[in-house]
Amino acid sequence: FDEHTGEAGLVTRLEAFMDTGTGGRIIPLASTRPQDQIIPGLRSEQKLIGFPTMGYLDVALRSALRHCGVEAVKTPSPSKTTVELGRELAPEFACFPLVVTLGQMRQVLEKGANVLLMVGGKGRCRLGWYAQIQEILLKKKGYNFRMAIIDSPVPLKTQWKGFRDTIKWLTNGASWPRFIKALSFGVYKLTALDKGEMLLQKMRAIETERGEADKIFKKYLLRLESCDTFTGVKKEWKYFQQEMAAIATTSTNPLHVFIVGEIWVVLEHFVNNYLEKFLGTHPHYRVHTHRDLYTSNWFKLHVLQNRKLKKREKYIHQAAKTYLTTKVGGHGLDTVGLTVLGKEEGMDGIIHVFPFTCMPEIVAQNILVKVSKELDIPVLTQIISEQTGEAGYQTRLEAFLDVLLERREYETKQQERGKTIVFSRY
Ligand code: SF4
Repeated sequence: FDEHTGEAGLVTRLEAFMDTGTGGRIIPLASTRPQDQIIPGLRSEQKLIGFPTMGYLDVALRSALRHCGVEAVKTPSPSKTTVELGRELAPEFACFPLVVTLGQMRQVLEKGANVLLMVGGKGRCRLGWYAQIQEILLKKKGYNFRMAIIDSPVPLKTQWKGFRDTIKWLTNGASWPRFIKALSFGVYKLTALDKGEMLLQKMRAIETERGEADKIFKKYLLRLESCDTFTGVKKEWKYFQQEMAAIATTSTNPLHVFIVGEIWVVLEHFVNNYLEKFLGTHPHYRVHTHRDLYTSNWFKLHVLQNRKLKKREKYIHQAAKTYLTTKVGGHGLDTVGLTVLGKEEGMDGIIHVFPFTCMPEIVAQNILVKVSKELDIPVLTQIISEQTGEAGYQTRLEAFLDVLLERREYETKQQERGKTIVFSRY
């Protein structure tokens, strides 16, 4: 609802919604039980799996499936076409990730996929219902496929059966040892990709020739895609490190910027307008970007329940406590906690990105105003949608970096004079 909500339109929509019913027949609730999340029964054709991307998750997932003897279609990176395809079917106020992932689903279906794989969940945010909505929209458009929804296997009492059945079906009944080995390999590859990206962020800030580290990383990404053994991935990682170490570097004092916000927007470079690359390779600034959000971390934390990451999550939530004590869905609580930690961990500034209409991050955004003021840490919020213009976006980023540099300069001068730094007067 907003001030533009017209009565006639609202009534029409309600009536249309009622018409989608089945003439008074009650739809059995059992169809939404976790164990029924995939359409049961076997088909004669071979499975060809397709899925949307989130960072490099698709690369790892394809490898893991290949290890189980299941083929997957290569997901095209999001592009303008992807957004248009998604926008054509998505409801007007759907959050942006739903639009783009829907577009990617259409692309993989057009490439021959007959099974779509998507994450599910019943958290506080809309992601938990993406798959169901996307399935309805795509089938209405005439696509013929099966939707497989993977949800966290914990708590085991309620989740395990649905998780197990979906896995067994997807992998054509692969044995558990085979599946575990495939999964371990996927996670191993994903970790190698994310470690590579971390090193890339570091090298961008000190490379002499701008863009050199990016070229090396791009080749590393391609080589890893076709790597099918643990030894192969290890070898590639070592070779990549050597290549990075050979880059000519300059002594710089880069700005340290923390990227926080909605995970999918943070991880999808096309969607966030290549934020990190823009900052890291800008000809007039030296910026080292940092983040906690990596696909491998997300997977290890939410699916594998990794202890170290659980501890870090607790620490982040603890840091947020003064400003927010409860989960608000998505990564809203983490955004607040990471901003507080950003100050403690010596960041010059925080860039908060999230998709238009994202509920958890809107909550966080309002709280960040207070955090920024009280902790004296600059925060720039960027809300992303298909309307986000590149020029305006980049100008705001450059203006933000200028502020960070001026603060640095001021800080240095004050320290030289032995004075206390009070930025609020600045
Ligand atoms: S976190 Fe935000 S963008 Fe993602 S599903 Fe939830 S509301 Fe939508």
